[in-house]
Amino acid sequence: MDENEQRRTLNVTVEDLDTLDCPLCFSPFDAPIFQCKNGHAACEACCTRIHGLCSSCDEPIGEIRCQPLERAIACMLAPCAFAEHGCTRRLMYAEKAVHEALLCHYAPCACPFPGCGYAGLGLRDHIQGAHAGGDVVSFAGSAAVTLRRGTAFVVLLQETDARVFLLLNGGDVPSGRSLSVVCVGPCLAGNKSMEYELRVVGGGGGAGTSGSLSLSASGPVACTRLWMGYHPMEGFLFVPDAYWSSSGAVSVTVHVRKLNCERQGLTA
Ligand SMILES: [Zn+2]
Ligand SMILES: [Zn+2]
Ligand SMILES: [Zn+2]
Ligand SMILES: [Zn+2]
Repeated sequence: MDENEQRRTLNVTVEDLDTLDCPLCFSPFDAPIFQCKNGHAACEACCTRIHGLCSSCDEPIGEIRCQPLERAIACMLAPCAFAEHGCTRRLMYAEKAVHEALLCHYAPCACPFPGCGYAGLGLRDHIQGAHAGGDVVSFAGSAAVTLRRGTAFVVLLQETDARVFLLLNGGDVPSGRSLSVVCVGPCLAGNKSMEYELRVVGGGGGAGTSGSLSLSASGPVACTRLWMGYHPMEGFLFVPDAYWSSSGAVSVTVHVRKLNCERQGLTA
């Protein structure tokens, strides 16, 4: 009757995970996987990169699929590394690394304050309890923040979904500072991403500034569970020295909004 349709399952231990990675680029194998006539395997991207000639034996590679390996990998499921924290996902080998590094909501996030060793699932509450002060502000998608020139970052604690954002104040540009926003937490699920918009109004009294001048910039919000002093260099708001007040501060308006990737660039 239904006997033939019953799936047989077996829990196995893979003793050498390297066999599930492309031997050329070391990325987890995912279909399509190709092999030369001598059985050397490579991922699709590597076959293109090596111009269709096997790097072990110089035979053509990129036409013959390695279907047994594709099928074996497609039906292998492993629990998320953060199962003991509550994640119930069982993941295909090819998606496991990305899930654990970027997407899992049960993966611990590290506190960005220098010298603080906290890493856990309650980063927002931890910061509110352990680091409350002028450089920790509550955030509801937008906020007006007073940023002091020497402050490395201001923490924005989102009220609705417990996300933690950092308004970064980089000092690595000449004659000014670079401002950007990162999120300390997992990336958004699905096709969603986040975009920040920063606005600084000049007129702090510095030489040559006028009260009506303003600067603004927008860019993608990078998500990371471990911020290690990294400042996005692909985009930031450059605030020249003249914009900082005589007491060394500017007022920054921060907006963060979610985007569907297919609608990228449209304002919410
Ligand atoms: Zn490869
Ligand atoms: Zn070969
Ligand atoms: Zn997980
Ligand atoms: Zn901390």
